[in-house]
Amino acid sequence: MTIKNELIENEIENQLIISISNLHKIYDPGRANEVNVLRGVSLEMRKGDFFTLMGPSGCGKSTLLNIVGGLTKQNSGSVKINGVELDSLKDNALSELRNLHIGWVFQSFGLIDNLTALENVMIPLDLADVEDSVARLTAMELLKRVGLEDRADHFPDGLSGGQNQRVAIARALANDPEVILADEPTGNLDTSTGLEIIDLFKELAAQGKAILMVTHDVALAHAAQKVFILRNGVVAEEAKDPALNGIQKDKAEIETEKEM
Ligand code: ADP
Repeated sequence: MTIKNELIENEIENQLIISISNLHKIYDPGRANEVNVLRGVSLEMRKGDFFTLMGPSGCGKSTLLNIVGGLTKQNSGSVKINGVELDSLKDNALSELRNLHIGWVFQSFGLIDNLTALENVMIPLDLADVEDSVARLTAMELLKRVGLEDRADHFPDGLSGGQNQRVAIARALANDPEVILADEPTGNLDTSTGLEIIDLFKELAAQGKAILMVTHDVALAHAAQKVFILRNGVVAEEAKDPALNGIQKDKAEIETEKEM
């Protein structure tokens, strides 16, 4: 490989997927109930980054995620996804960006009860006008990727919490988005199932996704590459706790306990 090619490749590798700069959000500005939630948040994420966001309840974590995901507008500051300024997009372009470039994972899974696992995963593909037979094959591949190919015909109430979250992750991956936003994805799961979801996120990050996950669970947060705390309206990187870096050891211990 020539030096020039190598440089170009590095540039692509280092490409900013999420770029948040000096973000401010005030709910009900000028009113008695005004809430000044974000006061200058800046954060950058590249391909392969898996970051977690923690902070006290009500500090604005969901607000931040919703702005990055194009669901809420900021008062000032900038959010770019793949270099595209969200604020500059008209409604149609923003919807398209949301469906094609951002995958969401929620605490409550957000699956449709009367659709099978396969049909749930097909939803974003249908929204993107992917032909039905192709959507079916793609959804099946995605279920395989999250280890659920043998559950494709199951409805959400016939699956465990962890399995439902895997279906939701497969759905989030449907249009191969660069960004995964996860709002407390392990909040309804027990510790070992939560760890399995974290392992899946690590795998997806290794495959090039940029993943931003909100969590209250310190141990799970520290399993990511970087941990950020949102406090008083700004985010700051938290030093990784060496005691919590042994998450794999913890998991092994849990598995040993299960076997006993
Ligand atoms: P977190 O996710 O950290 O718990 P949120 O982003 O949900 O925090 O909320 C941050 C603050 O903004 C809270 O005080 C909440 O009451 C307020 N808030 C959230 N959404 C709205 C809204 N749509 N209108 C007014 N206030 C809101």
